Amino acid sequence: MADAVGASPAESDPRSSVRTRVFVVGAGIMGSGIAAQCALGGYDVTLEDVSEEFVEKGRTNVARALDSAVKRGKVGAFDRTRALEAIDTAIGLRRADSARFIIEAAPEDLALKQRLFAELEAAASPTAILATNTSSLPVTSIASKLTDPGRVVGIHFFNPVLQMELVELIPGLRTRPEVVEEATRFATSLGKSVVTSRDTPGFVTTRAVAVLINEAVWMLYEGTATKEDIDTSYRLGFHHPMGPLELADLVGLDTALSILDVLWDGFHDPKYRACPLLRSLVAAGRLGRKTGEGFFTYPAPDPPTSAPPRS
Ligand code: NAD
Repeated sequence: MADAVGASPAESDPRSSVRTRVFVVGAGIMGSGIAAQCALGGYDVTLEDVSEEFVEKGRTNVARALDSAVKRGKVGAFDRTRALEAIDTAIGLRRADSARFIIEAAPEDLALKQRLFAELEAAASPTAILATNTSSLPVTSIASKLTDPGRVVGIHFFNPVLQMELVELIPGLRTRPEVVEEATRFATSLGKSVVTSRDTPGFVTTRAVAVLINEAVWMLYEGTATKEDIDTSYRLGFHHPMGPLELADLVGLDTALSILDVLWDGFHDPKYRACPLLRSLVAAGRLGRKTGEGFFTYPAPDPPTSAPPRS
């Protein structure tokens, strides 16, 4: 996997004296990674979720992601501390009003995202860019309840955010060109390489990877090979950095299933028919790394080297 923590933001930061705020909605796997990335990029960040418990979990995940970047030699100890200090937390959207960029990273559920964007339109500054980190839902649909859908754009980060170089940019049908330009500049300022996709379900990347994961789950379900041998086949046979079942655990099995259902709803093509085994694991609460068990089991992660500061 490429390591894309990004250039030292302070050196290349065109924002220098006035710091710009990013408001991240949802402090889960992606929201915490995006918060860490934006803080390293020289932005002030508010990381928001629905309860203190989720916000605290997100803050711990931010600290872990930064620790891991320090261990890989990508971030210095001073920048780690500075990034942690640049992040505060919130419950509810009220404090979105001071942000230039809002990035929504709530669960992959169209009704939920539509509701959140309607609330964000009221809570955010009228000039703020409203971005979604959806991995599969059409941006045009997410924006469809807004008075001004032209300010909504997809900025799709990859997991783990600090290590993955790519950002997929998805303009909705009504997104204004200047919003796309500003979103591109923003992603580039984080050290990311930007590709653009048309607004079809799953865009380019998710459409490709969803089929890969689903096929591996079907093979496991049908008894074609063991989970270990399926993953080893992809790693050693195709040079994939991890097997598709391990990748599904990293993504979150609930998210992987939601994505397949979005692709099915969008295309009605049987190639997107989610394997029943995936559905059963989700129903059993075995969601992958985030719950400690999915296709594989995972030990509890190390605590961060020092507690993240409280906001
Ligand atoms: P997650 O389940 O880890 O986190 C979602 C967070 O959103 C949780 O902390 C939850 O409490 C919070 N949340 C729920 N309702 C909310 C609300 N009303 N307001 C604010 N927060 C709320 O999910 P994730 O994996 O971080 O995925 C988030 C988004 O990013 C999804 O759209 C997903 O498709 C996309 N995405 C995921 C990955 C991945 O590998 N997991 C990669 C790229 C994009």
